[in-house]
Amino acid sequence: MIKMIDLPYPLNALEPYYSKETLDLHYNVLYKGYVDNTNKTEEKLKLARLNNNFENIKCLERDLSFHGSGAILHKLFFENMGPAIPTNPDVKLMQHIIKDFESYDKFKNQFTEAAKTVEASGWCILVFVPEFKKLEILQCEKHQNLTLWGCQPLLVLDMWEHSYYLQYKTKRPEYISAFWNIVNWNIVNKRYNCLELN
Ligand code: MN
Repeated sequence: MIKMIDLPYPLNALEPYYSKETLDLHYNVLYKGYVDNTNKTEEKLKLARLNNNFENIKCLERDLSFHGSGAILHKLFFENMGPAIPTNPDVKLMQHIIKDFESYDKFKNQFTEAAKTVEASGWCILVFVPEFKKLEILQCEKHQNLTLWGCQPLLVLDMWEHSYYLQYKTKRPEYISAFWNIVNWNIVNKRYNCLELN
């Protein structure tokens, strides 16, 4: 059984960049849905094993991946935001960003452009890929497609319409530019410093 994380700040803490109304809906309804559906799917899988009835196995494995990845990415997303108090990548992470993206600005540009062009519903994610020993930016479709196996998500941005439509309507670039004001790099640094880099 997986559980929702507590939101690390009040619902109005990200204003004006991310409205209370949007965060309320996003956290209390949509994120809750992914967590609940992950648990429901686990229950159904248990029942299937118990009854030795795998008639719906294809659908259940798919639901596990979809809802489970949705639950994981939303947790990471809510955690890597915070009130608009400036934070920065720490020295180690900054050095790695410069090594793999040439500069912080080039990293930020690539992330922004990747986020703008996520097709339909998906995510933009800064990851560390252990196999490549490299930071990469991924455009994820839905919650589970277009990954690199084994990658560790460091900074995630929800590009589903439910994440910005109430406040920004079709203005994706404005939502992305607002996001940079509420990134909590302290959390991203913590994730980076927990990685086994070698
Ligand atoms: Mn979402």
